[in-house]
Amino acid sequence: MPELPEVETIKNDLRGLVVGAGIERAELRDERLVEEPSPEDFVRGLGGVRITGARRRAKHLVVELSSGEALVFQLKIGGQLLLVPPVEEPTRNVMLVLYLDDGRRLFLRDQTEFSRARLLGPEGLEDRLAGLGPEPFSDEFTVGYLRERIGTRRAQIKPLLLDQKVVAGIGNIYVDEILFDARIHPRRRASTLSAEEWARLHAAIRRNLAAGIEHRGTTVRLYRDVLGRPGEHQNHLRVFEREGEECPGCGGRVVRERVGGRGTYLCPVCQPEDGGKGDQSLPLEVESREGEG
Ligand SMILES: [Zn+2]
Repeated sequence: MPELPEVETIKNDLRGLVVGAGIERAELRDERLVEEPSPEDFVRGLGGVRITGARRRAKHLVVELSSGEALVFQLKIGGQLLLVPPVEEPTRNVMLVLYLDDGRRLFLRDQTEFSRARLLGPEGLEDRLAGLGPEPFSDEFTVGYLRERIGTRRAQIKPLLLDQKVVAGIGNIYVDEILFDARIHPRRRASTLSAEEWARLHAAIRRNLAAGIEHRGTTVRLYRDVLGRPGEHQNHLRVFEREGEECPGCGGRVVRERVGGRGTYLCPVCQPEDGGKGDQSLPLEVESREGEG
């Protein structure tokens, strides 16, 4: 599932390979891809325009067009944006083809079919991205921000970190790695974290996402870059999908539990559920997961 490092990699690839090219026409092969406007207006708006830029906000990929509109992708679980040479035939599960004016084509392929796209004007784009939390590498995202935003919450820390309104771009793979790195149990209530733990958590968020970008993303199943290559960060994961394997921190065993409805990997020794302070018998705050994309 593309999270911040994967979408960042795709965005960087687009900047290097595709920005500056023109789109001759678009072929919409699966209308479920388009959230807005109508499929007809979506296809029309993508014909005869130039790709002027690419950027990322949270897990949204924003392709800027010479028309002033933006093509916004949410790659969800299995979305791949693939640049293929003129000789290559379309493959299965292609939801959208953009025919570039130099003969290349850009495919949106998704075998899970959950990817979504929007063609938005400046106001629509602003509305769409409003309400997202700060980018983890922005100046706004400080230890102080994190404590102020969620430090009094009695909800579990893992679902809070997945809430895109709290911090942008973290999903189910990186959150487990971040919490392991910070030695915080995913079920800890935010209000029980110490000042030192908040600082460790903040540093772990940046460190793990930066490593993911450095390794061009994590490919556990479907993620590919724009040239169809898997990332390498899966080779650096310490707990995610490593149930029963040796914990790199203590030599114990990584376990899998359910936290906030999500499969969760952790080391119960390195990440004690009571934070190492004895039992906490406060009732759990039950929250819905919001903003998870
Ligand atoms: Zn351990």
